[in-house]
Amino acid sequence: MEAHPGTKQILMELVAIPSVGQVPVPEGREGGEAMVCRYLAGLLESAGVDCQMEDVLPGRPNLYAHMDLRCARTVILSAHTDTVPATDWEGDPFRPEDKDGVIFGRGSCDTKASLAAFTAVMLEAAREKAGEFNLILAAVCDEEVSFAGSRAAAGRLRADLAIAGEPSSLAVVHRHKGVMRFVLEARGRSYHSSTPEKGDNAIYRMSRAALAVERLAYDWQQIRDVDLGPRAISVTTVSGGQAPNIVPDLCRADVDVRCLPGDRLEDLLEEVRARTGNEAAVLAPYMEGPALDTDPEHPLVRRLAEASGRGLTCAPYATDAPQYASHGIPAVVFGPGDVTLAHTPREHISLAEVEESVGILRRFLGM
Ligand SMILES: [Zn+2]
Repeated sequence: MEAHPGTKQILMELVAIPSVGQVPVPEGREGGEAMVCRYLAGLLESAGVDCQMEDVLPGRPNLYAHMDLRCARTVILSAHTDTVPATDWEGDPFRPEDKDGVIFGRGSCDTKASLAAFTAVMLEAAREKAGEFNLILAAVCDEEVSFAGSRAAAGRLRADLAIAGEPSSLAVVHRHKGVMRFVLEARGRSYHSSTPEKGDNAIYRMSRAALAVERLAYDWQQIRDVDLGPRAISVTTVSGGQAPNIVPDLCRADVDVRCLPGDRLEDLLEEVRARTGNEAAVLAPYMEGPALDTDPEHPLVRRLAEASGRGLTCAPYATDAPQYASHGIPAVVFGPGDVTLAHTPREHISLAEVEESVGILRRFLGM
């Protein structure tokens, strides 16, 4: 039988495929996420695993790999194929190097280590035909931008548990905050700046709207989750004006909301609208990821926490997991790596921790 590459080699090859999610994919072409899917499909198909690639966005597919072991229960192993950009990186972020058992490179920790571990588990299940669960590997696009990949996967797949692979230092995250982003748009009337009273300055309107958001942020600091802390809202970018001598007629700002379990996103938008009033319009959100709030007593959640030995925990950041949860699939976050290294120019992962994650998954799956 053909020998398959080990977890380390899979990880190195994944890091060497640039798959920055924000890079626009030219029409009719494929992006880096598609190259990651093709690489994984090549490995898995040669081991007899059934693979399908489906475009979620043009040139940006998900890969679904099914390992049917005729078990009663199914587990989804979901990890994203995209990374954040690497503009602040010294040297080549896509040439991974093994420095005493530590791999440096963009995506090494977030989250190609999880993707490599999940793929190694799939290859082993295919080889040994062992384990108590059918497995689905979902390699999903667009986690770092808008969760489009996991949203598509969750609408299509059925399972008893979904594990979203993210750097959780091998603990099992069962609760985390959600995220929502939208644009505030202030419209005024442009005029010659020598007689500004005849115009309507959109930047002044946005300033009043931004201060109203700041007051809402103070109020929301009182709304606290016992594990996750307060609900949060911030104005994070602002842009407006055409020229130094024109009263601006348009100003836009990005707003980032970090919501809590139980929050209804539509209700939060309504609160923002009530505060910003006529000064700025609240446009439809371009990113929505609800909070995660999975029952820690769920038998499969407990089983994974026991296999990991690191216990259950909570996290402030958002992941793909709630997309599965909102389709009725219990979901948790689990994977090798330290999340404080993600999105930094020092991103790296310990190979020992990646191998340990494979061992934990084998125990959990009864392989
Ligand atoms: Zn990630």
